[in-house]
Amino acid sequence: MIVEMSKGATKDQVDHVVERAHSFGFDVQLNLGTEKTVVAILGSDTGKVQTDVFAILPGVESVTRVMKPYKLASREFHPRPSKINVSGVEVGGQRVVIMAGPCAVESEKQLMETAKAVKELGAAVVRGGAFKPRTSPFSFQGLERDALKMLAKVKSDLGIPVITEVVDIQNIGLIAKHADILQVGARNMQNFALLKELSKLRHPILLKRGLSATVTEWLTAADYLLAEGNRRIILCERGIRTFEDSIRFSVDISSIAVVKHFSHLPIIVDPSHAAGHFAYVPSIAKAAIAAGADGLLIEVHPNPEEALVDGLQSLNIPNFERLMAELRPIAEAVGRYI
Ligand code: PEP
Ligand code: MN
Repeated sequence: MIVEMSKGATKDQVDHVVERAHSFGFDVQLNLGTEKTVVAILGSDTGKVQTDVFAILPGVESVTRVMKPYKLASREFHPRPSKINVSGVEVGGQRVVIMAGPCAVESEKQLMETAKAVKELGAAVVRGGAFKPRTSPFSFQGLERDALKMLAKVKSDLGIPVITEVVDIQNIGLIAKHADILQVGARNMQNFALLKELSKLRHPILLKRGLSATVTEWLTAADYLLAEGNRRIILCERGIRTFEDSIRFSVDISSIAVVKHFSHLPIIVDPSHAAGHFAYVPSIAKAAIAAGADGLLIEVHPNPEEALVDGLQSLNIPNFERLMAELRPIAEAVGRYI
């Protein structure tokens, strides 16, 4: 249930709503907007309480039942789009934020060379996998701690934020120390124990859509991240499994519009993991920006032929340069910039 306070409602009036909710055993979360405060009443059995119980309280403008399973990620709770500050880079604002870099960190040279090039070409964040969630246990699993140190060096030497994936609870603290954004991979979208721990952080989290998750399941997973007060959540559409087998995953372009309609969270698109082939990356990337995505997560490798992971879908530097040039006019056409 979402209780919207009137403009100018006093703190006492908000407190009264909160106390009433607590008296029923419900949790609450406040969205202290610049104009109005919105109170989310949280609990699995809020349906048993009539909306009038809150509507009658002084300072309350309206009470809405949220029929969707997610509440904190919803527009009812937070009517305006959220803008997430990532070490000085705003995600969800006018700028389309390009995050680029290798699938996996392979060496300091490989990472630094890629980072310098993508930064020069306009990327705002550098990506690089340290812990890799591989389908097979016999595939390269990442350089782990060493990769985190290399990412931290990129951050300090080049002054650019970095993103890397967190695959388990025990490494959260370590990764949070080195990275600006913690990525939850598609395979972990419903790893609720991991999401609960990440909710305790105040670091930005990128939540990828699960391989076969609906938008509703994805936004409900985002509620786990928001539940303990972490507000800095970014969504990432990376393609879903469909009957189409000519590419790895089908990018659900419509999810950009659907997410923007139902949620305040920013959404970016990863064309690389969907495409599975570098030739398809540019067209998906361009479509995503035209459709209103707040950014892109793109795999770039200085020498894809030698890549230990995902070489086929990685853009080399000249291809990334060409793509960036093609993306700029599209961003401008939809009132944004890169
Ligand atoms: C990644 O971005 O490195 C990755 C493994 O992606 P996904 O979780 O979308 O498969
Ligand atoms: Mn990859």
